[in-house]
Amino acid sequence: MTNNTESGNNYYKCDVLIIGAGPAGAALAVFLSGTGLDIILIDKKSHIEEPVRCAEYVPAAFTGIFDFKLKGIDNEIEKLQTFINIKPYRASIKELNSARSTNCSKNNLSDIYPDAGLSSCRTKTEMLLNPLPGNLAPASEIRAPGYIIERKTMIRDWIARFVNSGGRYLPSAKAFKISGSQVKALKEGEKIIIKAQIIAGADGPVSLAAKYAGCSCTHFLAGLNLKYKNPDAGPACRSTKVFFLPEIKGGYAWVFPGQKFTNYGLGLDLGLFCRNKKKPGVQKRLFEKIFKNVLKNTEDNNLGKNNLNPMCGRTKLSSGLIPVSGIATNPVYKNIVLVGDAAGLCNPVTGAGIYNAVCSARIAAKYILEAAAGKGTPALQQIRKEYNDYFKGSLDRALAKRKEISSGWKSQKTPAQFERFVRATWVAFRQYWQI
Ligand SMILES: Cc1cc2nc3c(=O)[nH]c(=O)nc-3n(C[C@H](O)[C@H](O)[C@H](O)COP(=O)(O)OP(=O)(O)OC[C@H]3O[C@@H](n4cnc5c(N)ncnc54)[C@H](O)[C@@H]3O)c2cc1C
Repeated sequence: MTNNTESGNNYYKCDVLIIGAGPAGAALAVFLSGTGLDIILIDKKSHIEEPVRCAEYVPAAFTGIFDFKLKGIDNEIEKLQTFINIKPYRASIKELNSARSTNCSKNNLSDIYPDAGLSSCRTKTEMLLNPLPGNLAPASEIRAPGYIIERKTMIRDWIARFVNSGGRYLPSAKAFKISGSQVKALKEGEKIIIKAQIIAGADGPVSLAAKYAGCSCTHFLAGLNLKYKNPDAGPACRSTKVFFLPEIKGGYAWVFPGQKFTNYGLGLDLGLFCRNKKKPGVQKRLFEKIFKNVLKNTEDNNLGKNNLNPMCGRTKLSSGLIPVSGIATNPVYKNIVLVGDAAGLCNPVTGAGIYNAVCSARIAAKYILEAAAGKGTPALQQIRKEYNDYFKGSLDRALAKRKEISSGWKSQKTPAQFERFVRATWVAFRQYWQI
């Protein structure tokens, strides 16, 4: 438990070491809090969740995983709208005003744009959040109840709970070697050694722990997300919107509306986009092109230059990898347990992984406790079974669709072909769920 010095290194000892303080690792830390186990949580970042590389949508069932009230729930979402062959488009205030004046008796924009999924648009934020595709309807609108969360607030709260109940959190500590029960890490330039009975790899899509377990992810989407503060408060937008366009190869663009901020982003299949090399410059230019009409720096809305221009410092543009090679074959290897993205639990089509990350942490916590209570590491093998029971069916279907997307994307030559292809491979359409 105490730190001592062994051959000149800082030496720590604990029952469970959790590598990574993202949703999976922080949730695991909080689920194991107060159980009497001695736990260390490390993260290579110096500040929790900075930057946040995420669009921050979680399904409604998310809150049910916790037995405490979650901080950081920002907006309630009801629907998912899918647009195909239509770019996100923000009507300018002038356009909206002229649309209003052509129909002066009506203040409600849903009367003017009946198919755009708007109930009413009274504030600038609402107008910005609703990329009105002229009078075109989304190709699909389905119920998708959930939340836009403020990840940073939420995860910081989990870690505070963990620390308050006696857990040890080491920021700026990057694990670089695992051997048996020992993990070596660099903490602010100094080598530390942590000895743990159980090592939980919650270290995300490019996981050191997964590498040791022999099941690294091999296929990624490259995600880019711009988070900016909404210009004013107002009735929130309740729909997430996704946009499929041929140039967003193997992926899609999104507009996920929070109350305080909005996430704009896109994910591209790295295999299709640039032969597995990440090219942030190319992706950024595509991002700017796709969102030009949403984010253009116009004077007419009185928001000021700095709020809207994605190139300026006041907005947060972050990039990250999304693992899409499916569920890990080996999420438990000796004393190593993988959770979240490290275990390949991100959905290979939607790229959503927060819910599964936290669910997997719940499952892992249960068997880690059993192992610590005397059953030993064999108890951990149950984790693989439960992961398969919970996640494998939906992730295997998504993986098959991902393969279809990767191999078929470039063969869609006409808009009609492209639309049929998206309908067959995207979760919002019946065809996706047919065998
Ligand atoms: C642009 C983008 C948008 C997304 N949008 C959504 C969305 O709207 N909804 C959704 O459900 N999912 C979304 N995802 C996916 C989601 O972010 C992940 O599935 C989720 O974060 C997985 O959580 P995790 O804890 O497993 O991994 P991560 O969130 O990646 O956390 C891993 C942590 O481990 C740390 N770490 C890594 N290596 C080491 C090391 N060697 N030593 C110490 N620490 C280490 C990292 O610093 C990080 O804090 C998105 C992903 C991207 C990139």
